[in-house]
Amino acid sequence: MAYDLIIVGGGPGGATVAKIVAEQGLNVLLLEAGEEGRYKCCAGGIPMRCEDFSPIPHGVNERVITGGVLVTPKKGLMEFDATGEKNKGFCMFRTDFDKFLVNQAHDAGVEVKYKFRVKNVHIREEKVEVKGPHDYECKCVIIATGIGGAILQRSLGIEVPPMVNAVQAEFAMPETIVDEQFGNKIWEFFDTSLIDHGIAWAFPKLNAVSIGVLGKGVKKTHFDAFLQSRKIKQKLVNGAMMTFSGRKIWAAPIPDKMIKKPYRERIMVIGDACGTADPILYEGIYQARMSAKLAAEVFCKAFEEEDFGEKSLSRYNKLLLKELYNEELRYTYRFHQLLFHSNQLENLIEATYSLAQEDPGMMESTIALFSGTQTRKQIWESLMSNKWKLIKHLGILNSLRLIPSLLRALRI
Ligand SMILES: Cc1cc2nc3c(=O)[nH]c(=O)nc-3n(C[C@H](O)[C@H](O)[C@H](O)COP(=O)(O)OP(=O)(O)OC[C@H]3O[C@@H](n4cnc5c(N)ncnc54)[C@H](O)[C@@H]3O)c2cc1C
Repeated sequence: MAYDLIIVGGGPGGATVAKIVAEQGLNVLLLEAGEEGRYKCCAGGIPMRCEDFSPIPHGVNERVITGGVLVTPKKGLMEFDATGEKNKGFCMFRTDFDKFLVNQAHDAGVEVKYKFRVKNVHIREEKVEVKGPHDYECKCVIIATGIGGAILQRSLGIEVPPMVNAVQAEFAMPETIVDEQFGNKIWEFFDTSLIDHGIAWAFPKLNAVSIGVLGKGVKKTHFDAFLQSRKIKQKLVNGAMMTFSGRKIWAAPIPDKMIKKPYRERIMVIGDACGTADPILYEGIYQARMSAKLAAEVFCKAFEEEDFGEKSLSRYNKLLLKELYNEELRYTYRFHQLLFHSNQLENLIEATYSLAQEDPGMMESTIALFSGTQTRKQIWESLMSNKWKLIKHLGILNSLRLIPSLLRALRI
């Protein structure tokens, strides 16, 4: 039987596009390499705006997040509150979230096959052949394989995004201890003596916490060093590392940059496979779902017009640039330059926090970095309009050191 659309990959991107297209009455097959309920290495923090796609039930979202803590070696803890309906976020296990999204897609009429690793995709004149444990045919295919589908992507002549590496483990601990040690806040650690190009985090769930590190060249030794650092070691005294599929410590890559051409005749590429993650805090769930929504819109139009040619699907790229790049990722990449390529990471975090403390507008923009209540473009403009105050907090020497990366950022 030929499908209208086959989606390769059942993460947030794949499940979202599958549901939207099936709701239009089209014939959709979702192929996922993992088994149902597979563990996914992810901190599982999402902003409230993820609910724009569909409400996330309590139980799937384990903890409502109402603030954050930034930590640097010099300043220690810099806390902020992000209360209010729009500002809050959720922390959850991706196993539950991804299963919930795939079930929603299934309920919308999508045929779902777990433990199905797609080996090859062949684009023919009138159809696409998708090959794995079985062969299927469809009119169009969406690649939603995250970073795990690099070989498949290359075989189709599609670029693979550049990426950084992450190492993470989940620590089980009683809810009361999670409340006491972490509260309803996400913790981001900036310590260049541990990781010179990246961050570490603690994201609390109900009775567990995800602890991880990420960055360029990050390995398990960075993770071990973070666990031994004073700030986190004390907090984990009552925690026990959890085991998933026989493994305690997990490593996974995260993309750094969007690819240039995420479509071909009869193919679109979404989510991490397309490099849509946001390399400030390295979150990518919302962005994967957003790219999925845009790909769904383009697919439905192409289906109506019976035209899955490159020109028709190039509309997806135009929408991505308009909805995700121009207002968001372009400015994310600017922030990324300043933060991670200036040797001023800790100074910048401390100066921005001090500025936010004296300026309510900057505090709102700082919170928006986490909550997504302002676009990255608005946050950048807010920072730039406060540049003299920022220079005051950074000091003249550090501000001068920032100039080369600022110039690079402004060229993006
Ligand atoms: C350690 C870590 C922490 C993170 N923390 C956060 C966070 O707190 N918040 C946030 O928003 N983002 C976070 N991210 C990023 C987030 O996980 C990704 O951006 C998001 O999962 C992208 O969704 P996706 O659907 O594009 O890809 P994925 O979620 O990676 O899903 C891709 C799916 O495709 C399947 N697949 C791959 N190849 C094949 C194949 N050949 N055939 C069939 N199936 C295949 C995989 O099994 C997988 O299930 C984190 C990432 C890491 C590594």
